[in-house]
Amino acid sequence: MHPALPEEVALDERDGRYLRQAIALADTARSRGNRPFGAVIVAPDGSVMAQAWNANGETGDCTAHAETSAVRLASPRFSREELAGATLYSSGEPCVMCAGAIFWANIGRVVYGIDAVRLRGFRGERLDQRDAELSCRDVFTASTHPIECVGPALIEESSASHVGAWKV
Ligand SMILES: [Zn+2]
Repeated sequence: MHPALPEEVALDERDGRYLRQAIALADTARSRGNRPFGAVIVAPDGSVMAQAWNANGETGDCTAHAETSAVRLASPRFSREELAGATLYSSGEPCVMCAGAIFWANIGRVVYGIDAVRLRGFRGERLDQRDAELSCRDVFTASTHPIECVGPALIEESSASHVGAWKV
């Protein structure tokens, strides 16, 4: 039995613009031989605090996910207070490692594209195993400070980076 797929969330113009920037970075990641994921951290005034793409393939570092790499760039440069007002845009739903990095950075808001359930479809895994894995929301819900989590959004656009990208 297939579980219901998560419903798409509508974004305003600003959120859509930055999520599309993250999706463009996912395409950059893929063109360089990595898994297709990108992330952008944006301040309340709209300035980009950090951005990164997944670099697993080009570095061999299994922790080089886009979101964790973006946090690694932003964290030394900005205070926890500044990061509390920031939004991290990710082309795909963050994994628990990245959710942990977002928690430690004190980033207050996350907007993501394709969800983990649909991603499993691209990876050729069974869609009904969603309960076997923790989600980023499990981490954010357990957080001692509030972390708003918005997604999935722009599913069609964020899915496009994954078409044919997971053949083994
Ligand atoms: Zn991750």
